[in-house]
Amino acid sequence: MTILILGGTAEARALAAALDGERVISSLAGRVSNPRLPSGEVRIGGFGGAAGLAAYLEEQNISALVDATHPFAVGITANAATAAEVQGVPAIRLARPGWADHPYADSWVWVPDLDAARDAAERIGGRPFLTTGRQSLPSFALWRDRPVLVRVVEPLTDAPEAWTVILDRGPYDDAQERELLRDHAVGVLLTKDSGGSYTAAKLSAARATRVPVVVVQRPSVPSGLPEVASVAEAVNFVRSAG
Ligand code: NAP
Repeated sequence: MTILILGGTAEARALAAALDGERVISSLAGRVSNPRLPSGEVRIGGFGGAAGLAAYLEEQNISALVDATHPFAVGITANAATAAEVQGVPAIRLARPGWADHPYADSWVWVPDLDAARDAAERIGGRPFLTTGRQSLPSFALWRDRPVLVRVVEPLTDAPEAWTVILDRGPYDDAQERELLRDHAVGVLLTKDSGGSYTAAKLSAARATRVPVVVVQRPSVPSGLPEVASVAEAVNFVRSAG
């Protein structure tokens, strides 16, 4: 079997490791210059839309496709559904559950998109801590003169002078997150509903330090791929596809 995993997440790396013994190709978008690499083969860069991905499935004789990209990466998920259908390749989406069932979820301000997150944070006031990812930053351009704290994986070339940029990537721990919120006098935490435990420590840290949290809801999932929530289910799917 040859399995293609569309990756860029901790779950994608765990799946590649769990499929040890099969030929696994993991695909990364190439957004990060020094990515955490999964076990097995790795290819990096876009395919050139759904048609490019369909051609790749054929070229590599892919027997099963797992879209294990981030829940907010909806473009590649739509392409995966189209390409798999065109080539008749069994495919599934592995998406970790969101934080809607988190014990503190009811205390957060849930918003539909990044612009609404900015507006909600403005209403709350205080120093914003942006953990919504580099691609989200254009939505916060209006804050260029505010003392925003932002955490990203890659250095920002065009961060406003008033901003404090922290370069880091998960997993994070509770104590460090609490310290960070206190040291930088954070007034409001902004996050996407990424789900999982990898970046969840900020949520309990915010609770402990009484920092309000604004959460961007997940975008609606493009239809076409059956969905599983765990690596074990994705492994079962792949084995049954063989
Ligand atoms: P996106 O908007 O859904 O995808 C845009 C384009 O990037 C796709 O059409 C595809 O280009 C390319 N692409 C995306 N993921 C790819 C992959 N795994 N392998 C090869 N090409 C890929 O994606 P995004 O939101 O920019 O996310 C990019 C990557 O970062 C994803 O792999 C995702 O897992 C990871 N990530 C995203 C977020 C987030 O918040 N969005 C957070 C953490 C990690 P072509 O059309 O040329 O094939």
